[in-house]
Amino acid sequence: MNKRDIRAKARDYIRQAAQGSFSDLQPDPENPGYTVSRVFLGSLINPSGKFYTPWANSNVQACPRCQGRGTLTTSHICPACDGSAVLTVQWILDHSNEPREACIARLNSTPACIWITPGETFHCWACNHTGKQADECAYCGGQGSREAFEDSLFWEFLDEFAAAAGGYIESGEGDPCDTFYCVSFPVVTFAADEERAL
Ligand SMILES: [Zn+2]
Ligand SMILES: [Zn+2]
Repeated sequence: MNKRDIRAKARDYIRQAAQGSFSDLQPDPENPGYTVSRVFLGSLINPSGKFYTPWANSNVQACPRCQGRGTLTTSHICPACDGSAVLTVQWILDHSNEPREACIARLNSTPACIWITPGETFHCWACNHTGKQADECAYCGGQGSREAFEDSLFWEFLDEFAAAAGGYIESGEGDPCDTFYCVSFPVVTFAADEERAL
């Protein structure tokens, strides 16, 4: 699916949900003082129709353009060190209010920091001391899987349209494959004397 179709799919879900049959209002466990009503959108409604966790997306197919790496064989100059492969403590101090001693102590306790001149310069960790970074594969958004990228776009659009319609998206408590569109309302209570005045 292309981005436009994914966006349209997400929009159609929210459009139908907004006219759908809402559940009775129930106390909102996340939001004291609010009640919430839900519409069931479906199970596994994401484009891939697969359930997986982003940190272990083992059952999605690897991107055919980058073979699952998420990066291309072309590269660009590392923006962190501007291609020099070196970062300086002075640069950090110039861009923060951190005292020098605290900054050096923090770097000393950071495993990724490998000093060139202790207390002054260290290897750029953003480019692994090469001065270059591989270009991100646009087809999979750097995720290494087009399926996973399409799914993540879909969830982003779904959240966006849900918010525009005044609600939000929630996954099922019992079954994380289930997706609900929810609308939350404040509980309105009147003081007893206001009730009497009516
Ligand atoms: Zn760098
Ligand atoms: Zn790719």
